[in-house]
Amino acid sequence: MKRKKGPGSQEDLVRHKSPHFSLKWRFTIGLGILLTTTILTLGWLVLSGIEQEQMNKVEANLKQRSELANLRLRQTYLSADARDDVDTFFRRRGPELASDLSSLLGNARIVLYDANGKEIGNSQPLSTTPAVEDILGYAMKGRTVYQVSGNSLIYLSPLVWSVGQVGIVQLEASLQADQDYYASLQRSLRNIGLTALGVSFLIGFLYVSRVTGSLRRLRSAADQIRDGHFIKESPIRRRDELGELSEGITYMSREIEQSFARQKQFIGNISHEFKTPLTSIIAYSDLLDMYRDDPDLLDEARGNIRKEADRLLEMVEKVLHLSALEQYEFGLHAERLDVRESLEEVCSRMRGKAVQFGIAVETDLQPAPIRIDRESLMHIFLNLLDNAIKYNIKGGRVQVSCYPEGGKAVIIFRDTGIGIPREAVVKLFEPFYTVSKDRARLTGGTGLGLSLVKRLVEVQKGSITVVPLPLGEKGSLFRVEFPLALPAPD
Ligand code: ADP
Repeated sequence: MKRKKGPGSQEDLVRHKSPHFSLKWRFTIGLGILLTTTILTLGWLVLSGIEQEQMNKVEANLKQRSELANLRLRQTYLSADARDDVDTFFRRRGPELASDLSSLLGNARIVLYDANGKEIGNSQPLSTTPAVEDILGYAMKGRTVYQVSGNSLIYLSPLVWSVGQVGIVQLEASLQADQDYYASLQRSLRNIGLTALGVSFLIGFLYVSRVTGSLRRLRSAADQIRDGHFIKESPIRRRDELGELSEGITYMSREIEQSFARQKQFIGNISHEFKTPLTSIIAYSDLLDMYRDDPDLLDEARGNIRKEADRLLEMVEKVLHLSALEQYEFGLHAERLDVRESLEEVCSRMRGKAVQFGIAVETDLQPAPIRIDRESLMHIFLNLLDNAIKYNIKGGRVQVSCYPEGGKAVIIFRDTGIGIPREAVVKLFEPFYTVSKDRARLTGGTGLGLSLVKRLVEVQKGSITVVPLPLGEKGSLFRVEFPLALPAPD
């Protein structure tokens, strides 16, 4: 089944062009971006959480120390001999108070300011004190403020006594240890993140490569099918959607192959079957020429030519009908009708033939409404009844019955004829199949009737089967079913 194609044709392009930006790279880059974003977000969340926690701890500690300093200052003021006012007390004893607080609070630098923000004491007067002008204003208004300067935190806490704000105490805390810890954590997180990114990326890449490998195999299977090399085995085995797709492609391939095989056989059969009557017609025509003065022979030849020509015509009609049904369901006009009435009509039309063959046709018909194309239904019934009469024996009977059963209209053609051999049943509905070639020639059969019947039944959503008869009973039984029509609207 090769198709012609020129170089550089559309097909060539479709087959050989690989995608600009393959699925594999799209997935891999997408995965990379996703993983990087996730790891960066997680890292940021962890680090900022830890930083916040560290700050909270330092703040809580400084708050506690500032409260302690406040208490100590009040105590010292209250226990002083001379009752100076607070300002004077601070101005006079500022440096001493700062040193005292420093030794109380673990030798950290302490700076004291009066209520106006003027420095009145510094426990380490010789070392440079970080500038705090920016935040001093806030502390003078009674707010606790801090600023980070280098690796230390400068904390200003207002000294508020019963008389109001009397000054400000400045404390310091070293952030060195916290900063070192933070930096080492940052390094560890970066290393863990990079490793996780690398490993996940590798796993993702391998997985995606496998998936795209499967896709490539499916694509090449599709290419093969297009070139007529049908596949028998599923190209990939997976238990996911790709596996299902692969099964689907394999099934499709088998179906197309079978359909090609059927078509090939059908065409082969047509040529063969058409040849036989044509050969007879040519042979009899020769006879007409050769025996011009033998009236009996001429009559016989004329009769046979007519018979063979009729057979040929019937065959052509049936083949055309069949191939039309294969391709389109045109000319089908579903209408609501009663199977019983159609069967009565068919039986009365065939009564003449039955009498001629010496066959009794009996009916047992119950009402069974269906929706169907009338022409097709008549064709189905006429064919089945014709066979039941043709393949019967002298004095035989045909019973035609119909009845509704389980949502279906059931139609039975039961004859007491020659019957169908068990092994022939499977092939019975194939085009051109006849149980006996000799008998077919005798009856003028083409072997197309039943395949046409089956196709017509199936197109109308029905089914047809040959039902085996109980042992000892002669003849054959065909059972046809159609869905019953819904009750007619009032
Ligand atoms: P044909 O035109 O030869 O009758 P069909 O397709 O109608 O073709 O039938 C195929 C073959 O099935 C027939 O040749 C015949 O051998 C067999 N057959 C069909 N119907 C019956 C029947 N009722 N009893 C016995 N054989 C039958």
